[in-house]
Parts: sequence; C-alpha cells; structure tokens
Amino acid sequence: MIILSKNGYTIHKTMTPRCACYIIEKDKYCVLVDTSMRFEKDAVAKSIQAIGGRKIDAIFLTHSHTDHVANAQYLSDLFHCKVYISEKGLANIQQGCCTMPKGTNLFSKLIQRAEPQIPFYHFTRFQPCPLAEPLNNEVLKYYLGESSELLETPGHSNDSISILLDNNIALVGDAMVNIFGNLYPPFADDEKAVITSWKALLDTQCELLCPAHGNPLRREKLIFSYQKVVSS
Ligand SMILES: [Zn+2]
Repeated sequence: MIILSKNGYTIHKTMTPRCACYIIEKDKYCVLVDTSMRFEKDAVAKSIQAIGGRKIDAIFLTHSHTDHVANAQYLSDLFHCKVYISEKGLANIQQGCCTMPKGTNLFSKLIQRAEPQIPFYHFTRFQPCPLAEPLNNEVLKYYLGESSELLETPGHSNDSISILLDNNIALVGDAMVNIFGNLYPPFADDEKAVITSWKALLDTQCELLCPAHGNPLRREKLIFSYQKVVSS
C-alpha cells in the first residue's frame, strides 16, 4: 500500500497487521525498513512482490527487537542484499538475541514478566544476521539520497534510530506506536529517553511519522501526545 509518493520517494507499507515494515523506492534503489516477526515472513515477501517485482537492494533495521528483525536473514538471502542496523544494535543482530524491554503499563509489565514462560514465543531469540553492517549516514545517503538523515531516537531501546526523508517523513520504528489512538510505547527501557526522542522528532520539520506498529500519523497528533505526557 503506497502511503506517500513525493519528491522522488515512494513509500509503501507492508500488508502485515502485527508489525509494519516500509518499502522505500528512491531512484534506482529500493530499501526495506524492518522485517516483522517470523509468522509474517510470507506476508512481507508478498508485499514486496506487490510493488511490481522490484528487488530489495538493502534492509535497514530500526532496532534489534525480534518482532522487527526476525526475517532479516531470510530476506537478505532471498534478495542477496545486505542488512544494516545502528552500531549499538549490531552485536544483537549478529548474535540473534536481544533483551525484553520493560513494560510501561500494567498489561505490558505482565507480558514482560511472563515472556520466558510463553511457549513458542522466545522474544529474545531470532535468526542471526552474522554479516550485518552498521547503518550510518553514509550508507543511508548512498541508498536513499542526500536528503535522507539518521536520527538516534533511544528510549524504547538504546539502539533505536529513525530514518528521516526530505525532512518531511520519519520512519520511527518503536519510538512511538499508533494503537487505538495511543502513541506511548507499551515497552521502553528508558522512559525519559522516549520523551527526549519525541522532542527530537518534533524539532525536525517532519509532518508524517511512520511507526512500526499501527498506521502513519500526522505531526499534530505527536504534539498533542507530547504535551499530554510532559504535563502529567
Ligand atoms: Zn521494539
């Protein structure tokens, strides 16, 4: 599904209800941002096929949590392309493990506590990408052009990054969610850093924010949520 086509960028959202991935077409390159959970592997591949048989040239990961990276190695093999993640997330990706983030509400705290006992879930393990490389501005601009920019947006996890396109669109990973109108991430290792990262995103000119759970949202919605959180 195309969510935006502007200034040479075409951005598609994958048809994956659990975790949103984005496909960015820019000139001759096509980049996949995040890869979802194992059970959505075929849905991600189908979403890529649906854009007209373009090949994926690189996979960028917003952070090293299982629900966004589980198919990275599979898709890397399928498209013969490299996987990139922030320097801070590199060891996790190469080893195929991460830590369960802390719950920020009663329900997510219960999930966090129960996670080791949930059968077949294994949130902290995934197929490793031993050849993954660090994602920096040089790599980003090579594939997505000079008007793309990386922004560190820690809080949900310390390795979280956002990808800014044209200072107009931000792919924010789990820096925020958009679930039932709520933007605050249900899991975060450092809640103060979540708010700082929201401020950093608001300090850009980005009008459209694309989270990895739920639909893209307008800047005004983030301003409203930010003001509500800082005044509480
Ligand atoms: Zn996450």
